[in-house]
Amino acid sequence: MSKKPYYITTAIAYASRKPHIGNTYEVVFTDAVARYKRMQGYDVFFLTGTDEHGVKIEELAKSEGITPKEHVDKVVGEIQDICKLMHISYDGFIRTTDPRHEEVVQKIFKKLYDQGDIYKSEYEGMYCTPCESFWTPSQLVDGKCPDCGREVQSAKEEAYFLRLSKYQQWLEDYIETHPDFIVPEGKKKEMMNNFIKPGLQDLCVSRTTFQWGIPVTFDPKHVIYVWIDALSNYITAMGYDPDGSSDQFKKYWPCDCHVIGKDIMRFHSIYWPVMLHALGLELPRQLFGHNWILFGEDKMSKSRGNVIYASDVVDAFGVDAARYYLLSEMPYGSDGSITYESLIERFNTDLANTLGNLVNRTIAMAQ
Ligand SMILES: [Zn+2]
Repeated sequence: MSKKPYYITTAIAYASRKPHIGNTYEVVFTDAVARYKRMQGYDVFFLTGTDEHGVKIEELAKSEGITPKEHVDKVVGEIQDICKLMHISYDGFIRTTDPRHEEVVQKIFKKLYDQGDIYKSEYEGMYCTPCESFWTPSQLVDGKCPDCGREVQSAKEEAYFLRLSKYQQWLEDYIETHPDFIVPEGKKKEMMNNFIKPGLQDLCVSRTTFQWGIPVTFDPKHVIYVWIDALSNYITAMGYDPDGSSDQFKKYWPCDCHVIGKDIMRFHSIYWPVMLHALGLELPRQLFGHNWILFGEDKMSKSRGNVIYASDVVDAFGVDAARYYLLSEMPYGSDGSITYESLIERFNTDLANTLGNLVNRTIAMAQ
């Protein structure tokens, strides 16, 4: 009997800089699920990868005096080293600079344009440069960017838009009739009440303000903006093609679970379903939004100087303890916290005393 397919993904990591241990949590968590499903007898495909376009990478590369491709090649190498170090058993690693991905993304954009789901217009709004995001006045918090709290400037540009508004009712109905689509429950409520029910606005899906991206084939001064480029990885990696998909794609799609951080829940629960539905594809069975791993009480960041890398923990405690710690410190549906004190405590209490004693006594009795 052939095994039942099970397709699970992480989000793709932004290849701007080397990820810290908090970012590594997602791939370790997904790896644990993939291994469990393999043990249960599923034919698992576990996909991870990197998101490599955008103005931030273009600017970082410029400041380093190298090309964007050289920059992402270096960071992708570091990300793959971390996967190796953490014993991540992925089956596929997609890079959004893969020529095959770029070609299919261009076809997806063209298909959506040809059928009227993408149209050309002009964008006028408040723009946050670090977040590369346009906001409407009602979305601003105290006149500042709702994501990062920085100042925004009014800006105007010619752009292509994805017709989200057309799918508003469909999306609401879909989420309401598929109770397991967005988990945990709290995240689903947040998406519905804060973003979907207040009304979907058409989404700007191209940019003319930078070059490091996939050009729109029929209007090459535009590059395809992050949503369509990055989200499509889940299908391009498996061989989706509007002109005829691979057997691998047909076998594994729809995806069983996208494991994603809470900050990108909105893109996965609104933009991605609409894109798939417009392409005539089934939706993934589940979006699992996880929380952050904090350092003590603070979010880990380079500017705060509290960054811990996976290699720091593995050097001190070994890979199994590092994996165990990440998974055990992260409660379902709320933020976790990492400190060296709690790491030592977990190591001594759970692994050495509890598990170590169990093994020791079992062996003694067996003898
Ligand atoms: Zn911002």
